[in-house]
Amino acid sequence: MPTNARAFAAASATSPLAAASIQRRDPTPTDVAIDILYCGICHSDLHTVRNEWASVMPTMYPCVPGHEIIGRVSRVGPNVKGFKPGDLAGVGCLVDSDGSCPCCKDHLEQFCPAAVFTYNGADKHLGGHTYGGYSDSIVVDQRFALRIPKNLDPAGAAPLLCAGITTYSPLRRAAVGKGKKVGVVGLGGLGHMGVKLARAMGAHVVAFTTSPSKKEDALRLGAHEVVVSRDANQMQAHAGSFDFILDTVSADHDLNAYLGLLRLSGNLTLVGAPEKPLPVSSFALLFGNKSLSGSLIGGLKQTQEMLDFCGQHNITSDVEIIPIQKVNEAYERLLRSDVKYRFCIDMASLKNG
Ligand code: NAP
Ligand code: ZN
Repeated sequence: MPTNARAFAAASATSPLAAASIQRRDPTPTDVAIDILYCGICHSDLHTVRNEWASVMPTMYPCVPGHEIIGRVSRVGPNVKGFKPGDLAGVGCLVDSDGSCPCCKDHLEQFCPAAVFTYNGADKHLGGHTYGGYSDSIVVDQRFALRIPKNLDPAGAAPLLCAGITTYSPLRRAAVGKGKKVGVVGLGGLGHMGVKLARAMGAHVVAFTTSPSKKEDALRLGAHEVVVSRDANQMQAHAGSFDFILDTVSADHDLNAYLGLLRLSGNLTLVGAPEKPLPVSSFALLFGNKSLSGSLIGGLKQTQEMLDFCGQHNITSDVEIIPIQKVNEAYERLLRSDVKYRFCIDMASLKNG
């Protein structure tokens, strides 16, 4: 018998999130049931709630977002290995995949044709669609539960499950490390993790921000230099010098300005997913054999690797912990780039309705 869970849901693209009751399945023999302690607020939650990605991934309502989940294991099925009641566990953007296709065999479950996202995916157990972490509990197959290093603060670790892996994966692909000059564009949830991780990997890190007030913080977070991107002179000073730039911006902006900052054969990788297409000048790529790429979260094996890396380097997200009743206000602040640097919901507040 499925059980009822408390959650916050949006009833339509124009409705605020509000208290709702949803169902969670009974654990199967390979399932882990988790009581959620914290859930980070990703800008993807906002894009999805407001159906801004309608042309690619239309939103199904009611929508319960949340894919930066940390909680305590409450129950495990009899075939579960590696988790027991009381353990801390994490869940990121994925809750299922076929486990046998070439992508799954390559540990790239996010590209499996049967991949199921934590929210707004097809729920093969209960029918309908999946509900995310703005809720007091979740049930997932053990393959999608992650181990959280004991030395990390649980609230600060929650954002690692999306913001962490989404920045770690392309930084690794670009072999970022000592001797590499790396730019991180946008100092929000993803961007501040990108700065911390690139610094821990040994690169020379430059943060690009539209918010002059974030300059001091960018240095504290690990950037060696900060560029206010609306200042053309500051941008020009770095022309042709970057090996790699990671673009985390959630809204419309000029990519060509950043392509101009890459050195010969440099790469700009997009992880930000603005609602509207971004125009690219072919000349900005042709001169210098430059490349433009994208990157989608990361597979489960690499997510565990990232968590362990963060454990070793003592890296967590800088979080502003909020009660769930403030989630709609937090969304408005995200749109104003007023986040330092990830909102994280204390799920105990769900009891207050
Ligand atoms: P966020 O916390 O809202 O941060 C976005 C940052 O971008 C802002 O803080 C701001 O930084 C900058 N920005 C906002 N509007 C801008 C504009 N008009 N021009 C230039 N810069 C602007 O968002 P997030 O949670 O980090 O997510 C960022 C994007 O990544 C979203 O589109 C999200 O959907 C996407 N995402 C992708 C993946 C993936 O797998 N590829 C995973 C998660 C999220 P400054 O104040 O420093 O300028
Ligand atoms: Zn996310």
